[in-house]
Amino acid sequence: MSSQPQRDQRVALVTGAARGIGHSIAIRLSGQGFLVALNDLPCNETALQGVVNSIRTSQCDEESAAMTCLADVSVEGEVERMIDEVVGYYGRLDVMVANAGLLHRNLIVETTAAEWDESMAVNARGTFFCYKYAARQMIRQYEEAQQQGQVLAGLRIIGAASVAAKRAGTSLGAYSASKFAIRGLTQAAALELGQYGITVNAYAPGGIDTEMLGQIASGTAAEMGNKPDDYFQELKDRTALGCIGETTDVSNLVSFLASEDSKFITGQSVRLQFPWLQI
Ligand code: NAD
Repeated sequence: MSSQPQRDQRVALVTGAARGIGHSIAIRLSGQGFLVALNDLPCNETALQGVVNSIRTSQCDEESAAMTCLADVSVEGEVERMIDEVVGYYGRLDVMVANAGLLHRNLIVETTAAEWDESMAVNARGTFFCYKYAARQMIRQYEEAQQQGQVLAGLRIIGAASVAAKRAGTSLGAYSASKFAIRGLTQAAALELGQYGITVNAYAPGGIDTEMLGQIASGTAAEMGNKPDDYFQELKDRTALGCIGETTDVSNLVSFLASEDSKFITGQSVRLQFPWLQI
């Protein structure tokens, strides 16, 4: 099959795509017709390549359907290089999904400087770098189109907030602070980038069934002297719909935010699931 990407196809970059929510978003956007560039840390290269291979297989073995971009989003030079690689291969970038994130669960009085710094470095600074370099590329594309008398549509920047970006939770101080930062960044970026036709939004899920939630469940169980299943049950009981989300619940929203139908929505951190109390 051809390895030359079609220049008229829209291109999305998803960070933290080796597993969990990022994996689901990558599959969904590919199914929606996007060429997808998938990022994760070098230590997750094998898993990431597996996602890329499965997307290529589902797209009739088309090699250009997906590419890998190994990078640590907390390092500015790596994010800049990652965007250059995507544009070098596909010729454009239409949708940036800054999904990569991590969680250190700890009480504030126990949280170490290293846990605080890593939460901020990956979640807040990493998302900032992704927004910054994606926006620079999208502005270039918008202005080039304008010089040719065209208006470029469908430029989207999407971040990963959390319900913890709207209301803090116990043992989630560093995580909540980093996610509040993403919500603020999303609002500011929406204001600055609207003039270039770029919308900027974030998804703000409650509990979604991934390794990250498993990590919270294990931590809580160890602290309370009960089982992870007890945590999951309590979490379900605290939500309006009485269930934990699936990764596709998030990728369905991202699919809409990436589409033309969301063109009048910007600056929002959209909550998925309504908790009675905070996790
Ligand atoms: P996950 O831990 O299952 O996957 C996160 C992925 O990000 C991993 O593949 C990891 O290797 C990658 N990653 C971590 N640090 C990175 C870095 N510096 N550079 C590049 N990649 C990196 O998490 P998930 O549950 O899929 O969560 C995805 C996003 O959604 C995160 O930002 C998370 O905070 C957010 N979120 C998750 C939930 C939930 O309940 N799972 C709820 C709200 C928000």
